[in-house]
Amino acid sequence: MMSETAVMKSGIILDLDGTLMDGVHAYEGAVSLVNYLQSLAVPILVMTNSVQPPEAIMKRLQKCGMDITAENILNPIVAMNAYIRNQGWSAVRCIGGEDEQRQLLNVSDTDTPDAVALLDFEDINADYRLLQTLMTLLRRGVPFLAASGSCHYTKNGVRQIDTGAFVRLLELASNCEIQVMGKPSPLYFQMAYQLLGKAPEAIYVIGDDVITDMHGAAVSGSVGCLIKTGKYQSGDEDSSDVSYCFENLEDLKRLIEKRVAF
Ligand SMILES: [Mg+2]
Repeated sequence: MMSETAVMKSGIILDLDGTLMDGVHAYEGAVSLVNYLQSLAVPILVMTNSVQPPEAIMKRLQKCGMDITAENILNPIVAMNAYIRNQGWSAVRCIGGEDEQRQLLNVSDTDTPDAVALLDFEDINADYRLLQTLMTLLRRGVPFLAASGSCHYTKNGVRQIDTGAFVRLLELASNCEIQVMGKPSPLYFQMAYQLLGKAPEAIYVIGDDVITDMHGAAVSGSVGCLIKTGKYQSGDEDSSDVSYCFENLEDLKRLIEKRVAF
């Protein structure tokens, strides 16, 4: 039962693109929901597969009236860095723009890297030769980490190719697997739970993506709340991974306020 009382004891994971934000605009109800949760002193974490630096995401949110600090924003590169440190990798080939490279540990241009991190293809103008080089490294057994398993996302209402589409291409061509560090990876959700300081079952995951948000929440033991914005498609709410479904964030807030069980 999700009521105001239940929510006050919980932690909230909010997806960014397609849920709180559509490009530079906040979705209906996003600002009032964030303000409301903060007024209840409920811990919130913006958990995204976007590889924008947390400081840049913070500015995007603040411009729209959501006062969320960088410490409360988790991106997959933070999770990757913990993994890189843990594995002791000192030379990591990085696929991504300057903003992404700056965030990653131990970046190296070597032809014989310890690992490869796929962060973002949007700004690097990837061509056949680069994809062939990556596929060959993967075939040689070099470990690959990817920031996102999703194949597309929505920006200003337009569908964009996401890193997961390149992950699939490389896996198909190489017949090897790539470790995804972004949602729906349980590794990534575990890091979020640690940051929120709550048990998985006390956490509501609010998002627009039935796979990355809802399936990720379900396999990690949290409660999935699907919002019909962003990449939502009719019928997504029928998934057994979805516990609750709302037209928008305003509806979600209204229902918590009214203490209606849903
Ligand atoms: Mg989303």
